[in-house]
Amino acid sequence: MIPFPKRKVTRVHGQRELEILERTYPAAVTALEYDSPFTLLIAVILSAQCTDARVNLTTPFLFAAYPTPHALAAADLSQVEDLIKSCGFYRMKAKNIVNAARALVEHYGGEVPSNREALEALPGVGRKTASVVLSVVFGAAALAVDTHVFRVAHRLGLTLAQTPRGVEDDVVKLVPHEKIRHAHHWLILHGRAICKAPVPLCDRCPVRELCPTAPIAARLRRGRTTGRAPAAAKKKRSGRTGRSMG
Ligand code: SF4
Repeated sequence: MIPFPKRKVTRVHGQRELEILERTYPAAVTALEYDSPFTLLIAVILSAQCTDARVNLTTPFLFAAYPTPHALAAADLSQVEDLIKSCGFYRMKAKNIVNAARALVEHYGGEVPSNREALEALPGVGRKTASVVLSVVFGAAALAVDTHVFRVAHRLGLTLAQTPRGVEDDVVKLVPHEKIRHAHHWLILHGRAICKAPVPLCDRCPVRELCPTAPIAARLRRGRTTGRAPAAAKKKRSGRTGRSMG
């Protein structure tokens, strides 16, 4: 795994990096398929430790059987487990989505609440899930930090934070308020397409001139190619040419 930079870039530098990502992914939207706040909420709960593609294959069958919060609240748990089995952690997720539907029916008339506190009180809903729902459905200035956002923000030197909440706090300071809800998508799409774990495709990256991880990744690649540790490879090159390579 490529180590993260040890220093943060400056505020202006970070903003320039994010502006490039914004231009690169101008129409970024969630990859989860949904047609209502309820279906998005359930899809996001199912997406924990699971790909969006897998969730999109699962939810049509789930919502065909249980199209509303009322229907899901009255569902037979074992039938729900069968329908979502391929999403992983299906027992816990089935319990969470049925209980979340019951809470929606009981406390909110079957509607998905639009404030963070109420969302995070629902079973299976943490800060990240609430942020996705708030930003995608309600257009709120919320930034969900998943594994891609965490990694890309670190590689770009936008943060040194060790927790998703810390990363969120650092990144939102760099983004104009009205664009915060889009920043999650810039970072997540970049993480999926280019800045992959464990090996980022820096040669194809539009941010490489600014990214503090690009030289780190390049040194590691050279070390792998020569079979030498990066420092040793550098020393050998310097000796061969008789001058510093910088
Ligand atoms: S230059 Fe490399 S490490 Fe930096 S953001 Fe691009 S792909 Fe990721």
